[in-house]
Amino acid sequence: MSHIETDLIHAGKSFNNTPSVVPPIYQTATYYAPADADDYMAAATEARYPFFYHRHGNPVSSQTAELLAGLEGTEAALLTATGMAAISTAVLSVVKAGDHVVAQQSHYSAASILLKELLPQFGIDVSYFDQHDNASLEGSIRDNTTLIYLETPSNPNLAVTDLAYVGALARRLGITTICDNTFASPINQRPADFGIDIVVHSATKYLGGHSDLTAGVICSTQEAVNKAWKKLLSLGGALAPFDSWLLLRGLRTLSLRVRQINENALALAHWFEKHPLIKRVLYCGLPSHPQFELAKKQMQGFTGMLCVEVAGKDEQEQFARAQTVLNHLKIFANAASLGGVESLAVHPASMWGLHHSPDQKLKAGINDGMLRISVGIEHVEDLIGDFEQALAVV
Ligand SMILES: *Cc1c(COP(=O)(O)O)cnc(C)c1O
Repeated sequence: MSHIETDLIHAGKSFNNTPSVVPPIYQTATYYAPADADDYMAAATEARYPFFYHRHGNPVSSQTAELLAGLEGTEAALLTATGMAAISTAVLSVVKAGDHVVAQQSHYSAASILLKELLPQFGIDVSYFDQHDNASLEGSIRDNTTLIYLETPSNPNLAVTDLAYVGALARRLGITTICDNTFASPINQRPADFGIDIVVHSATKYLGGHSDLTAGVICSTQEAVNKAWKKLLSLGGALAPFDSWLLLRGLRTLSLRVRQINENALALAHWFEKHPLIKRVLYCGLPSHPQFELAKKQMQGFTGMLCVEVAGKDEQEQFARAQTVLNHLKIFANAASLGGVESLAVHPASMWGLHHSPDQKLKAGINDGMLRISVGIEHVEDLIGDFEQALAVV
């Protein structure tokens, strides 16, 4: 169609058949049924039909989904109540008992729990590969592998998975691929362009962009999205009417926000690299990132997510110093989540210390001195100044 900036404002408009420029919020659980029995049957059974019952579909959800499908370059999309609803619905629409799944060693924490606890409960085996190493993926595939589950860049350690390699290998072997594209956003990366079958997001993050809603989206072919829709009918994670309206509103500025965030994060990452109290900076857009070349190949921008490791004589001191810095930040809020207009920072070792064993922490790439930062759209000089004064306390 047209350019992304234009699509963000106009895509999906055909779903708004009112004279209102901004679509109304359909705050209703149900709709008057068509009088004709055949029409009624069609409304009740058609996938994502927007005027039957809220769990089946909603006009604003249809409008937002069409916009998101266009952004990801897929045929269709389905909105869900949270990012985890998108992930669990997408995964359960692909796998069945007896199947085998291959996943990365590091994933968003609740996705890791789904892979480690929920899938085995239904007789689905999961093996893990090192996403830095393509050969280790091929080695973990079995005859009954039906799904390769990816996330890139991954949470929290910003490891990059080679989408073109995985896409081509999976297509050759007839294995379905799902990629969580939350960290990148479709402005910076489109997994479907590399042969990935299903793209999922926590729309709570960059897509919504204002930390005022939770939502998820599944983008794929009509066939795969309809299959996921059927699972969602049973799993129940439909997105509320007001939240799909808010998501559409947030999406209008996605491209502006993400471009500013990319720029701020790169400047901040360069600044951190020169700071004596920062031992290491992990940012996909820095030549010092171990997978910089791969990131450049598959990403148009490098997102607002970066990790820094506060220096210290041992892990204990690093842990304490990271907490000190976090407690003295005035602009960056210490809050879970990411991808909003406001800058946030968290200390993963405190957040996930209870969920992860030392070995798991190592595998997930979490270090005691690490701070995970989500850069917002504030003025970059103020963001740098905030870290400057907080690091001065250490
Ligand atoms: C936040 C997040 C999720 C989960 O999304 P919710 O909307 O909180 O359910 C999944 N994947 C990634 C990468 C995330 O950052």
